[in-house]
Amino acid sequence: MSRIVPADSKHIALAAKSIAAGDLVAFPTETVYGLGGDAENDQAVAKIYAAKGRPSFNPLIVHVASLDAAAAYAALSPAAMILAQRFWPGPLTLVLPRLASCRLSLLVSAGMDSVALRIPAHPVAQALLQESGRPLAGPSANPSGRISPTSAAHVAEGLGDKVAMILDGGPCRIGLESTVVSLLEEVPQILRPGGISLEEIAAALGRPVTMAAQVGDVAEGLHGPGRLLSHYAPACAVRLNATEVAPGEALLAFGPHAPHAAVSRNLSPTGDLTEAAANLFAMLRDLDRPGIGGIAVMPIPETGLGIAINDRLRRAAAPR
Ligand code: AMP
Ligand code: MG
Repeated sequence: MSRIVPADSKHIALAAKSIAAGDLVAFPTETVYGLGGDAENDQAVAKIYAAKGRPSFNPLIVHVASLDAAAAYAALSPAAMILAQRFWPGPLTLVLPRLASCRLSLLVSAGMDSVALRIPAHPVAQALLQESGRPLAGPSANPSGRISPTSAAHVAEGLGDKVAMILDGGPCRIGLESTVVSLLEEVPQILRPGGISLEEIAAALGRPVTMAAQVGDVAEGLHGPGRLLSHYAPACAVRLNATEVAPGEALLAFGPHAPHAAVSRNLSPTGDLTEAAANLFAMLRDLDRPGIGGIAVMPIPETGLGIAINDRLRRAAAPR
């Protein structure tokens, strides 16, 4: 059974209810179709990674309704304000510092202190944001490694059974991903070329902009900046596949049979990988504090979301 529905006001209202309930909805934007979930809800964001089958937690773009909504999550520098006023709503994503008070799931930032925000121009995306009142984490609505979808039928082919519904807004006008610009450093940097050119961005800012070295990612149909991302890493040493806890260590447990430890958090006492993904970054941060000699992490199954969880834990444990 196809979950494609017309993007009329009745179905947008139903979609908004699904989003508020923590479910996923595919929605059209002017760039490509997005796989949307409440960006403040850890479980909903974990479901996005699970649905796409991503082998790692790359950070996700968060779609917001307004500049005010963006300002509640990220620090908007003068350069950010110029680009926002010039190109929003539209195919531009800004990577900005997260505010301390930012309520977005840490999973959308893959544990980092930055967040990627965009106000989409598509009327259906706008209506869904308004109606739900939620920020929408929205990566392209395709299984990992496949081409981004530019029609509702493409979404149904790849992710049909993973979403509550697919809002059909017709083919995407641009059909190319948004341009991702990082404003984290002194010189603005294009992390991913897209619907708006480097020249247009440099002209709006009145100063030079650099293009990040692009890493070929043919399968995704785009050049992903994945390798350029600085990954979240705890200050503490991280030890994987731990079956017991050494003195001074904190425990990051998984499942019902956790060994005793003075300081411990359990990613999922029932052994649920979606719950574990939802808790991963917040619990790592919580354990990574002064006085902790290291973090011992119990084994996590290398299946489903466990693949992305283990990828991130291996990076955290890598010598540096
Ligand atoms: P997609 O979700 O498929 O549209 O792709 C999102 C793009 O934005 C990816 O290339 C991410 O690497 C990039 N991105 C999202 N959040 C961040 C961030 N906090 N820092 C750097 N790049 C980001
Ligand atoms: Mg994508």
